[in-house]
Amino acid sequence: MMEQFVQALSIAGSDSGGGAGMQADLKTIQERHVFATTVLVAITAQNTLGVNDAFALPTKIIDEQFEALAEDLAIKACKTGMLADVERVRAVVKNLKKFDFGPLTVDPVMIAKGGAPLLSEDAIAVVKNELLPLATIATPNLPEAEKLTDVSIEDEADMEIAAKKLQAVGVKNVMIKGGHFVGDDQSSDFVLLEDGTSFWLTSPRVDTIRTHGTGDTLSACITAELAKGKSVEDAIRIGKKYVDETIRHGIIVGHGHGPLNHWA
Ligand code: PLP
Repeated sequence: MMEQFVQALSIAGSDSGGGAGMQADLKTIQERHVFATTVLVAITAQNTLGVNDAFALPTKIIDEQFEALAEDLAIKACKTGMLADVERVRAVVKNLKKFDFGPLTVDPVMIAKGGAPLLSEDAIAVVKNELLPLATIATPNLPEAEKLTDVSIEDEADMEIAAKKLQAVGVKNVMIKGGHFVGDDQSSDFVLLEDGTSFWLTSPRVDTIRTHGTGDTLSACITAELAKGKSVEDAIRIGKKYVDETIRHGIIVGHGHGPLNHWA
C-alpha cells in the first residue's frame, strides 16, 4: 500500500466571509502542507462587518460526516471550533469517542469579536465537562478561559491559575491567549504542558483591526503540526509564530474587522 499523505480534520462552523471558522482552518492547514478534511457543524451568514445569521446543521448529517471520514481517511489530528449548542457539542463528543482522529485541539469558541454568540450559554458546561476531557490541547482566549474556570482574570498570575484549573478538568495541555488584555503593548500567551512545565509566549502587539480568525488560525496551525508528528510544545510555538506573521502582514478585504494574510 502507498503511504497516505498527512491529513487533519477541522470540526467547525462556516464563515461565509472567508476569514474565520472552517474557512480559516482550511487555508491554514493547506498552508502548513497538510491535507484538510472537514466536519461542518454550523453555517454563518457573515462578513467582516459581523454575523447576520447562523444555522446549526442536523446531528444526523454531522454523524454521517464523521462516519464517511472514518471509513476512508487516515486523519492524524483534529480540532474543534464553533460548535453552536448543547446538541451539537454532544454529537461531536460522541463521534470523537467513537473514532480515533488523533490528538484533539479544542478552540472553545464562544463569541465572535463583533459580539455574535457562536456557542449557546448552556453549552459552556458541556464543553467543559464532556469535550475538554478529550482534548490534548485547549486554546481559550481570556473571556473563554474565565467562563470555563470561573476565575476572574486580571493579570498574568490569574492566567496561570486558570490554566491549572483547565488541566484539572482533564485537558492535557493548555494555552491561554492573552491577546485580550487591553493596553498591553505585548501579547502574552501562557502555556502549561502535561508534564507541569510552563512558559510564556510573547510578541509585540500589532495595532490593527485585521485580526478576524486569529483563534481559528492558531488552533488549525497547531493541529496541522500535530498531524505531521510535531510535539505539543513545537506545534504551539510554530502556531504562535504563524499567527503573528499572518497578523503582521495584513491584507485589506472587506470594510470591517478584516481577515489575516495566510500567505505571510
Ligand atoms: N465565525 C466563525 C464560524 C468562527 O468559528 C469564529 C471563531 O472561531 C468566528 C466567526 C469569530 O472570529 P473572530 O472572533 O476572530 O472574529
